[in-house]
Amino acid sequence: MGFGCWRFICTFLTGILFFHSFCYSEKAPNYSFLLKATSAPANAHYDYIIIGGGTASCALAATLSQGANVLVLERGGSPYDNPKVTDVGSYITTLTDTSLSSPFQHFVSQDGVINARPRILGGGSALNAGFYTRASASYIKEAGWNETLVNESYQWAEKLVAFKPPMLQWQSAVRDGLLEAGVLPDNGFTYDHLYGTKAGGIIFDKDGHRHCAADLLEYADPTKIKVYLHATVHNILFKSNNGSPKPQAYGVIFTDALGTKHTAYLNNNLMNEIILSAGAIGSPQLLMLSGIGPVEELQAQGIKVVLDQPMVGQDMADNPMNFVFVPSPNPVEVSLIQVVGITKSDSYIEAASGLSIGSSWAQKISGSILKFLLKTGLASEVLLEMVLAAGNVNKTIRGGVIVQKTNGPISKGNLKLLSTNPNLNPSVTFNYYKEPEDLKKCVDGMKTIMSVISSEAFSKFRYGQIPVQALMELMLYLPVNMRKKHLSASFSLEQFCIDTVTTIWHYHGGCQVGKVVDTNYRVLGVDALRVIDGSTFNSSPGTNPQATVMMLGRYMGQKILQERLSNNGKPQLLFFTSHSHIQSNKESYMLGKRYFKIWSWKTDQPFTVPPEAMAEAAETINAIANGTIKGGLILEKVIGPLSTGHLELQNTNPNDNPSVTFNYFKEPKDLKRCVKGLSTVIDVINSYAFSKFRYSNMTVQALTKLMLSFPVNMRPRHANATISLKQFCIDTVVIIWHYHGGCQVGKVVDRDYKVVGVVALRVIDGSMFLRSPGTNPQATVMMLGRYMGEKILHERYSHERK
Ligand SMILES: Cc1cc2nc3c(=O)[nH]c(=O)nc-3n(C[C@H](O)[C@H](O)[C@H](O)COP(=O)(O)OP(=O)(O)OC[C@H]3O[C@@H](n4cnc5c(N)ncnc54)[C@H](O)[C@@H]3O)c2cc1C
Repeated sequence: MGFGCWRFICTFLTGILFFHSFCYSEKAPNYSFLLKATSAPANAHYDYIIIGGGTASCALAATLSQGANVLVLERGGSPYDNPKVTDVGSYITTLTDTSLSSPFQHFVSQDGVINARPRILGGGSALNAGFYTRASASYIKEAGWNETLVNESYQWAEKLVAFKPPMLQWQSAVRDGLLEAGVLPDNGFTYDHLYGTKAGGIIFDKDGHRHCAADLLEYADPTKIKVYLHATVHNILFKSNNGSPKPQAYGVIFTDALGTKHTAYLNNNLMNEIILSAGAIGSPQLLMLSGIGPVEELQAQGIKVVLDQPMVGQDMADNPMNFVFVPSPNPVEVSLIQVVGITKSDSYIEAASGLSIGSSWAQKISGSILKFLLKTGLASEVLLEMVLAAGNVNKTIRGGVIVQKTNGPISKGNLKLLSTNPNLNPSVTFNYYKEPEDLKKCVDGMKTIMSVISSEAFSKFRYGQIPVQALMELMLYLPVNMRKKHLSASFSLEQFCIDTVTTIWHYHGGCQVGKVVDTNYRVLGVDALRVIDGSTFNSSPGTNPQATVMMLGRYMGQKILQERLSNNGKPQLLFFTSHSHIQSNKESYMLGKRYFKIWSWKTDQPFTVPPEAMAEAAETINAIANGTIKGGLILEKVIGPLSTGHLELQNTNPNDNPSVTFNYFKEPKDLKRCVKGLSTVIDVINSYAFSKFRYSNMTVQALTKLMLSFPVNMRPRHANATISLKQFCIDTVVIIWHYHGGCQVGKVVDRDYKVVGVVALRVIDGSMFLRSPGTNPQATVMMLGRYMGEKILHERYSHERK
C-alpha cells in the first residue's frame, strides 16, 4: 500500500474518531438537567420547546440538543424513581394502579374498552410490554422516509435500549406452537418485520430491568437541555406573524406540581419551533386547547379559535386486541412479549407469562373463574387448580396470555374535548370492529391462537383436560372490558371478538400526516409548530410501534437540525477550543482541522469541547499518526473498464517512468458501474450487521462528503460531488493497482504470447491482459507464469524429441 493511501486512511479515520470524541454526555439516571417544574423560572426562552417527555420526545430532544437549546415539559415524574416501572415482573401491577400518583392515567373509551395513557418521562416506553421491533420496508416507503436515515435512527436507539430476549421455555413453546400452526417461516431473532414467526427485541436487559426512551437522553448535550417533570402544558400561544397570513406559535403555558403558572417562550429566530409530542391522546387534545381544531368543538368549550382545523382529533384508531388466558400446570418464566407470529391475514400473535398481579386483580380473576366453573359445571380438581394458577395465592400468574392484535384497522373514531382542563381525559371513540374486514382479521387471529394452544409444542403449558373452547368461554367471564357479553360469543368467533375486545395500547391518529401535519410534521396552517409522535401515524408501524416512535424522534431531530444548520447563522467550526495537546503532533492536528472544516455546522453559539474529550481526541490522533488504526475501508473496483488510455516514453532512461493515461470513467458505462458499486458500499455501511463498526451519529452522506476533502488524488473537486454519486466517482477516483494492457494479446503478442513480427521474444505478465482477471489479478498472473512455463517446456521437449 502506497504512502499516499496510508496517509489518506489515517486522515479518514482521524475524522471519524475525532468526531466521536467531541460528544460528551451524562449517564441515566444521573441527569443534571432533569428538574422539578417547581424550580422553573416564571419566564424563560429556548430554541425548541417540546411538549411531552415521551417515547418520541426523548429521542427528539436528545438529538436537537446537539445543535440548539431545548426545553422538554413532561407532566409525569421520573421512571428512575419507581422500581415497579423498571422491573419486568411488575408490569401488570403498574398497569392496574389507578391511584392519583399512578404513572398511568386511565380512561374508558366510548366503546367500553378500558385504556391507559402514560404519564411519566419516557412515556409509553417507560411502562409498556417492552417488545421492540422495526416497521416493515413497505411502511417506511409509504411514509416517504429516507431509508438510510431511518436505519441509522433505529440503530441509534437500539444501542441503548434494545436487547435480545432470553427465550425460556414458555416463550419457546409459543414460538414452536406458532410454527406448528403454520405461521411460517421461522425467522429466528430479528428486529425486522417479516411474515412468519420470530423473536424480536425487548427493552428489558438480562436482569429484567427496563431501558426506556428516557435512557436516550444520555445522547443529549447536558448544557443545552432542560427537562421539567410534573410540568403540565395548558396551551400553546400564537401571535400573528408579520408578513405571513399564518398564526405563529411563540410560547407555551404550563403549571408545576403546586399549580404555579410558568411561560416558556421561543428565542427570536425563525428556525425556532414548538414541538408537540404528547402522544396520540395528548397532542390532538392540546392542539384543540390551543385553539386549533374543529370550530364548533372549540366554541362549545369557549376556546378562542386560532385556526378552524376540522381534522384535528379525527381518524383515531386503536388496534383491537383479543386474548386467551391459559393457566399452566407447570411453572412458567416471567416474560413479556418476546415472540411474535406475523400472519398473512394481518393478525399478529404475541404472548406473555408469569406476571404478578395485585391482590385485588388476583381476587377478581379467581372470582371470575369460580363463577365460570359454577355456571358451566366444569368444576373439578384441575379447574380449581386453575384458580390457584390465576394468582390467588402468590399473586403471580402460573400461566400466560396469548393475544392477537388486529393490524391496520379500517374502523376509525374520534377525540372530543370534554373540558378545558388538560389534566382531564377527552372523550375518545375507536369504533372497534365496526368494519367487517377488521373482524375477519380477529377471527383468523383467534383461530391461530387456538391452534397454538392445541399444538404439541405447547402441551406442557396447558391442562390437557380443559378444551380450548372452555378457555375461550372463560374469557367471557373475565373483567377484560365494560362491554355487554352475548350468549352467541361462546360459539361465534365474530361475537367473541366483539365482546372481549381490549386494547393493545397502540392507539394512534388524531394529528395525521396529510390531514393535520404535512410530511415534515409541520402543523398545516400555522408557523413554528410541529407534531412528532404516534398521533401522526395513519397506521401502527411494525408489530408494535415503539421502535418506530423512537426512530421518528431521532429521524426528525436530525432533519430539523439539518434544516436549521443550512438556514441559520454564520458557519462555525464545531471544534475550536484549546488545542494544546494536539499541537504536540502538528501533522495530525492539521488533519483534524481539515476534518472539522468539513464538519462545520452553522450554529448560534460556539461549540465548546470539555478538556477530557480534547485529551481523548488528541490521543486518538496521535495513535493514528503512530500507525494504529481502529476502523477500515470499504472500496469498490470497477471491473473491465471500457475506458482505456496509452503509455508514452518520456525519455530513454529505463529508470524514469513513462507518461501514462488511463482515462478513468471516460466511458459512461464505467461511471454507471461505479455509481452502482458505491450504492452497494453505502448499503453495507448501513447494514445492521455492520452497525457495530461505525459511528451511528455520522451519516453515510457525511462520510462520503468527508472523502472529498482528502488528498486521495490530484483532481479538482466539484461542488455537486456531494449530491451526485457520478461526480463523486469522478472526483475521488483512485487506483486499485490492477493496471494492465499495453502489450495485449492479438495486438502486440499472439496467443502464445510471442511478440508479433519478431522472433525469440515473448511478453508474459499483466501487460497482455485485455481486462484484469478475477476480482484481483495476482493469482492469475502467477498461474500464467506457471502455465506458460509448462507450455514452453512442452514445446521444447517435443521439438527436441523430433
Ligand atoms: C401498556 C402499554 C403496553 C405497550 N406495549 C408495547 C410494546 O410492547 N411494544 C411497543 O412497541 N409498543 C408498546 N406500546 C405502545 C407504545 O408504548 C406507544 O405507542 C408509544 O410509547 C407512543 O409514544 P408517543 O411518543 O406517541 O407518546 P407517549 O410515549 O405516550 O408520550 C407522550 C408523553 O406526553 C406527556 N403529556 C401528555 N400530555 C401532556 C401535557 N399536557 N403536558 C405535559 N406532558 C404531557 C405524557 O405524560 C407522555 O409522557 C404499549 C403502550 C402501553 C401504554
